[in-house]
Amino acid sequence: LYTPLVISNKLFGVVGVGASVERKFTPKDLHLLEMFAQQAAIAIQNAHLYSEAQRLAITDSLTGLYNRRYFMERAQNEFERACRYGSPLSIIMMDIDHFKKINDTYGHLVGDRVLQRIAEICSKKVRLVDFIARYGGEEFVVLLPETTLRNAQLVAQRLRKVIARTVTYVGKKRVRVTVSLGVAEMSAEIKQLDTLLSHADTALYHAKAGGRNRIILY
Ligand code: GH3
Ligand code: MG
Ligand code: MG
Repeated sequence: LYTPLVISNKLFGVVGVGASVERKFTPKDLHLLEMFAQQAAIAIQNAHLYSEAQRLAITDSLTGLYNRRYFMERAQNEFERACRYGSPLSIIMMDIDHFKKINDTYGHLVGDRVLQRIAEICSKKVRLVDFIARYGGEEFVVLLPETTLRNAQLVAQRLRKVIARTVTYVGKKRVRVTVSLGVAEMSAEIKQLDTLLSHADTALYHAKAGGRNRIILY
């Protein structure tokens, strides 16, 4: 005996039952199975809604990257792990250069498109174990567990180069941007995540002051 699992006219699946001894199913059996299927479909839909709500809570809606709140949570975990085991941990802060000019020249919507494009490219360029998030308006952060400063520098170089090469087409307009990056690594003296973040921030500041489109190590 089979019955479909349906919610809002959408087929989720099918429930089937078989009898262990040969017998004829009655309309009452069917009715029972349909009632069961209805309950099951509601439970499945709730589970879908719940996981979608959870996904949205940790995602930045413009870029699809993780949001800052979730980044802080994950970074705190990785930070504590690095403290406990003395394992390497690095952070890259990345900020788009003269982004205000992009908005002023092409409009805010084009600015948004550029942000989306950069997010997409960067998430392809970092390893699965690394963690990239939108940290602020046009600022991104990459968390690199088990990664030394030198190796984080290599990742930063990859990001800088690929972004500088990228052209975003908006209608007939060709838009290019560059980014500045600051890289910092965990050390025994660092007792708080905020300190590590501020080191990456300081390095980023020096990358800006040094002329932009470059990487500075803390
Ligand atoms: P700098 O090289 O010093 O970083 O210059 P900048 O112009 O990028 O820096 P500034 O912080 O002065 O400006 C950042 C701009 O980013 C200002 C703000 O309007 C823009 N911005 C922030 N969030 C968004 C967004 O979600 N969409 C768009 N289109 N623009 C954004
Ligand atoms: Mg900027
Ligand atoms: Mg900024």
